[in-house]
Amino acid sequence: MRWRLWTRLSDSSAANLGKSKPSRAPVAGETINGLGVSAGIAIGQILIIGRADPKPVEQFIHENALDAECARFRAARDLSVRQIEELRRRVAEVLGEKDAGVFDAHLMIIGDLSVATETEQLIRSRRCNADFAFDQVLGRYLKMLQQVEDPYFRDRQSDIRDIASRVIRNIQGETATDLASLSEPRIVLAHDLPPSETASMHKGSVIGFATVIGSRTSHTAIMARSLGIPALVGIPEDLDGAKNGDMAILDGYRGQIILRPTEEQIGAFRERQRAQEEWIRSVVAESELAAETLDGFRVQLAANIGLPDEVAEIRRSHGVGVGLFRSEYLFINQQVLPDEEKQYEAYRRVAEEIYPQSVIVRTLDIGGDKFLSHLNLPGELNPFLGIRAIRFCLTQPELFLTQLRAILRASAHGKVRILFPMIATVEEIRQAMEMLKKARKQLDERGVPYNRHMDVGIMIEVPSAAMLADRLAEHVDFFSIGTNDLIQYAMAADRSNPATAYLYQPTHPAIIRLLRDVMIAANKRGIWVSVCGEVAGDPLLTPLLLGLGIQELSMSLPSIGRVKHLLRGMRMHEAEALVAKSVTCSTAAEVKALCEAYVRGVAPEMLGE
Ligand code: PEP
Ligand code: MG
Repeated sequence: MRWRLWTRLSDSSAANLGKSKPSRAPVAGETINGLGVSAGIAIGQILIIGRADPKPVEQFIHENALDAECARFRAARDLSVRQIEELRRRVAEVLGEKDAGVFDAHLMIIGDLSVATETEQLIRSRRCNADFAFDQVLGRYLKMLQQVEDPYFRDRQSDIRDIASRVIRNIQGETATDLASLSEPRIVLAHDLPPSETASMHKGSVIGFATVIGSRTSHTAIMARSLGIPALVGIPEDLDGAKNGDMAILDGYRGQIILRPTEEQIGAFRERQRAQEEWIRSVVAESELAAETLDGFRVQLAANIGLPDEVAEIRRSHGVGVGLFRSEYLFINQQVLPDEEKQYEAYRRVAEEIYPQSVIVRTLDIGGDKFLSHLNLPGELNPFLGIRAIRFCLTQPELFLTQLRAILRASAHGKVRILFPMIATVEEIRQAMEMLKKARKQLDERGVPYNRHMDVGIMIEVPSAAMLADRLAEHVDFFSIGTNDLIQYAMAADRSNPATAYLYQPTHPAIIRLLRDVMIAANKRGIWVSVCGEVAGDPLLTPLLLGLGIQELSMSLPSIGRVKHLLRGMRMHEAEALVAKSVTCSTAAEVKALCEAYVRGVAPEMLGE
């Protein structure tokens, strides 16, 4: 039997995906390779979310049955609203309001009266079935959105598609797979897991998952890591021979699935699973210990946050500081922009709650893939190369000054540092500093207190900044390296495009050389350096970052224990030797192999061995 994973891509992008990843037919016990994005091992039966999108076919409805057909549509619409509200509630509980906000757009579309009225009108005028009519109406809206320039509205297309398939399934009497209430634990295989599916995942029922599309920095991968579910992405589109209920082993460390494993394989992996669980218990027990190498070198560990609510968990579990507060999350999904008072309250709350640790507040990083719907900005052909982050703030002086005043005021209540994102030139630093000076003056005039010696840093995430780091260092107190963007820009590989995800290569010798040069420049000027991109929480990269002399690693909270455990087994001179060897390599694969060999020697459990 042959299955094809459920695709939400357009036909053309699905076809391209098929071309770049030729299909292969696994046999019993054979290994399927993907990219491991969340560590851990799962052993169990597979569940394929492999139904094709429902394609309604037009049917003639007799005049006498039109009322009943309209009622069928309304019942399915109401059921969909209840399902989405329930999903929203669950997501808000598990992941917070920010992620739950995705479903507000869904509720808005489904609750739109003109969509409902038009559907009923079409059922009656064309005497057609409800699912066909609804598909036609939403299809018209989709066409209209395709013409719109505003990227925010263009991005709503995926919400409309998500809604369309839910309502159509409900009209057709099918229910979507509810990943939260599977009767037995399953390893889920899917083409993609959109928000409505990933959100409902429960660690007890989804013991692991694998998708065709996605990358290490995709929404699904980040969620898998925070939920602690082993996962991989990039599996082949077509897998002949796999069917629901087959046994499988999913290895999130190596990015592999073994389909229909032998008894020996299951036994061996169960042994590894037991060792892992034992090891995780020992890591948790280390939360009080210092992040210090065997030869006494300390690295500051810190957490990345998007909203103030996340601080409570940081205090409870690790007691570290906040190395990156992505302030744009205060702005996204809001009806109105937060004013100075509201922002001040948010920054102050974090500063007070995290004290005596410090918080680094990054100024608004809007643009790229993050938009503010209320600002109605013109669409750009290449948004990641457009008016983003500091470029955007410098074009909006009032908005920027408001944020700067709010951050400055919060600095009177704790250890607050400020960070400017996406700096590419010395002029941008000068302009940002001018604005900071102006904000200080405005506060002085109002007699409002703030820390006059607050540290000011810049993100190093544009190659030009990395290459000119010695000059940029003359103007600031610290650097924070954003590897997510630095890799995207250095490799010319859009971080949101799954087709270029293979070029996200943190071990590429060119990236290691860039980092090394930034460290040389920073050391010369005596300023400290943090890394706050995803590599900071990837244990495979820890030896390189230590060997480079990075002083602070800021990462998602669940990664802290693992990185600390590894650091505690390493020696600085070995890490330095690893860096020296890496910069002479030619490929990312060679450097990765060196890192793996080193990590294997220090803590084999980290690689799931
Ligand atoms: C980065 O680019 O590495 C970073 C930390 O910033 P963001 O992921 O928010 O762009
Ligand atoms: Mg960035």
